[in-house]
Amino acid sequence: MTKNKSIFKLIMENFLQQNFKNKRVIVRVDFNVPLDNDFKITDFTRIEFSKKTIEEIINRGGKCVLLSHMGRPNGRELKYSLSHILNSVEEILGVPVKFCNDCIGNEAIEAVDSLKEGEVILMENVRFYPEETKGDIDFARQLSKLGDYFVNDAFGSAHRAHSSTTIIADFFKERKFVGTLLDKEIKSIDRVLKNGKKPITAIIGGAKISSKITVIENLLDRIDYLIIGGGMVYTFIKAEGGEIGDSICEDDFCEYSKKINELAQQKGVKLLLPEDVVIGNEFSEKAKINLSSVYKIPPGWQGLDAGPDSIKTFAQIIQKSNTILWNGPIGVFELEPFSNGTKKLGEEIVKRTKKGAFSLVGGGDSVSAVKKFGISNGISYISTGGGAMLEYLEGKKLPGIVALT
Ligand code: AMP
Repeated sequence: MTKNKSIFKLIMENFLQQNFKNKRVIVRVDFNVPLDNDFKITDFTRIEFSKKTIEEIINRGGKCVLLSHMGRPNGRELKYSLSHILNSVEEILGVPVKFCNDCIGNEAIEAVDSLKEGEVILMENVRFYPEETKGDIDFARQLSKLGDYFVNDAFGSAHRAHSSTTIIADFFKERKFVGTLLDKEIKSIDRVLKNGKKPITAIIGGAKISSKITVIENLLDRIDYLIIGGGMVYTFIKAEGGEIGDSICEDDFCEYSKKINELAQQKGVKLLLPEDVVIGNEFSEKAKINLSSVYKIPPGWQGLDAGPDSIKTFAQIIQKSNTILWNGPIGVFELEPFSNGTKKLGEEIVKRTKKGAFSLVGGGDSVSAVKKFGISNGISYISTGGGAMLEYLEGKKLPGIVALT
């Protein structure tokens, strides 16, 4: 592990020292940003976070060739064209950015060859070719013709062994690097998993326990407190014999939740579930609401948020933690009557971060939650990769990163 880490550090240092003057540098970014119906970007984070990598290249005279995917197109579907985001990319980078209608072939090679020192070009969606997601070697070879160097900055796609994220790296031997975004992502997660300052608290929420099993198991070896929230709570409570009314529950995972309890005890991790919950008589904004013990939810009602006593207990744990990982909302934060728990929890994390704790938030819905409540600036790091972050937290090796080392 130490060996890998030092190789990783080395390739980052090499990237920062490399003389890119007049060289073509492919950067695999993840510009798969959310768009509204008018093709306007609703969240710029991924582009903003890759800006530094691109600047490192163009400021040293390199020619920057941006490769990315967008959505899951079925062939050349123009609604997934990266041309929709070109203006925003230019605005964020603060330099003109050219666009090429293809990412391989003569048109692409000519467009790249016409670049001058310090110029940037965005190539069309790599997923317009079905070969991309199959990890096709020949497609990767064609992409590799666009550059003298390869930089991977696409953390959000690092768990995929696709042509432009992983296979392409084989064509670059010592001429491949980690981008600054990818580097920051890995360092932030390692700051929790490998060298987190204790006490370490993980807050795991979201709808279902089934999608977080391996993450929870892997975390138990590293953390001191585990706060479970959201819909997965009710699988734990049912397993303990509680009455959960109509709350969401994965019956097949009741046994597993007991195992998590046992493992936590064996490993000295304090596991906390909400004691009181906000219940609703339907899953809607208009639901009648009430407070209930988590063990005694009446039929016809469902648990949809953590209650005030639970928040108080969770807050006490957060306020004594030095490292905090948060993945998954602890209530249905999208619906106003059930958003309070997630909001309050986020505010507690921000308060503790101000006092010096390191906080990492990742996973699509918790990131949307911190953005919705306007507290993202108070978090130490917000991950740009949902699936990739979960797989890294599970202890898996990400193919996009392995290919660089
Ligand atoms: P996940 O994708 O598994 O992280 O789940 C995120 C979703 O879980 C969000 O859309 C939340 O609205 C939802 N969620 C949180 N708490 C509950 C709950 N008590 N019952 C049902 N869904 C919930």
